[in-house]
Amino acid sequence: AKCGQDGKFSDGELVPFGPIALNPSSGVLNYGQGLFEGLKAYRKTDDSILLFRPEENALRMRTGAERMCMPAPTVEQFVDAVKQTVLANKRWVPPTGKGSLYIRPLLMGSGAVLGLAPAPEYTFIIFVSPVGNYFKEGLAPINLIVEDRFHRATPGGTGSVKTIGNYASVLMAQKIAKEKGYSDVLYLDAVHKKYLEEVSSCNIFVVKGNVISTPAVRGTILPGITRKSIIDVALSKDFQVEERLVSVDELLEADEVFCTGTAVVVSPVGSITYQGKRIEYAGNRGVGVVSRQLYTSLTSLQMGQAEDWLGWTVQL
Ligand code: PMP
Repeated sequence: AKCGQDGKFSDGELVPFGPIALNPSSGVLNYGQGLFEGLKAYRKTDDSILLFRPEENALRMRTGAERMCMPAPTVEQFVDAVKQTVLANKRWVPPTGKGSLYIRPLLMGSGAVLGLAPAPEYTFIIFVSPVGNYFKEGLAPINLIVEDRFHRATPGGTGSVKTIGNYASVLMAQKIAKEKGYSDVLYLDAVHKKYLEEVSSCNIFVVKGNVISTPAVRGTILPGITRKSIIDVALSKDFQVEERLVSVDELLEADEVFCTGTAVVVSPVGSITYQGKRIEYAGNRGVGVVSRQLYTSLTSLQMGQAEDWLGWTVQL
């Protein structure tokens, strides 16, 4: 679907996957005016399809669009477009237990600009792909390295919105980490170089006894929908949840560390390397109890194996 600066999107159409034509002087190609989302569809054993909290993705795209000076689809337009795209691609949703269909909505400045300015026209696209586990480790623990040379986001920047440039800025740190054998990078804040932020594509949680702590959303990390959901699930299981500044030193004392995200779901962290020192977690010899419990609770909701008492799923 397309729209001008008035923000009124035309009706969308379903077209076969393939290259799209883009103006060489479009806002997205020249000035990074692009925003995306990510959500998943799961197939239930009765063959119906479940979406997980798609309105949350729609709302996050709207917040991000404001920051990027772009108009965005309404929540209703967004959710409707996701539903239609998934239904048209139903055969690509893997069988129950064999993965999910990853849904990627994209919003971009497609109109021509030469001097720096918001584009005069916008395009909203959704494409889908069947996926398995994000990390090759699956539910097995991942190994992270704390990066204090590179930062993902700075205060006042665009770290809290899902804009394409944020991902360009992490490519190099992630490449270096992977070359050294780590699964991903854990970023620290750019001001004090002391507080945990997030991983390249997921949020981070630190478990100590009955307390689960996670960095507060302060404008530099992405407010993950899985993060928000895990907080609610953890509270319902009588854990204490703290959203606050979490110092890198707390990694030394933690019982368990895990990451959350649409792609990674809940990924236990087996080790974190910081300033050359490797901190290992119990999870490295298996999966930590808390991580496993939260993984099971969340995935059984997402896959429709537990009663949806929070009204989080949309059945197609
Ligand atoms: N942080 C970043 C930088 C991400 O790209 C993602 C994935 N969208 C997340 C966190 C997790 O967000 P969500 O749970 O909404 O997928």
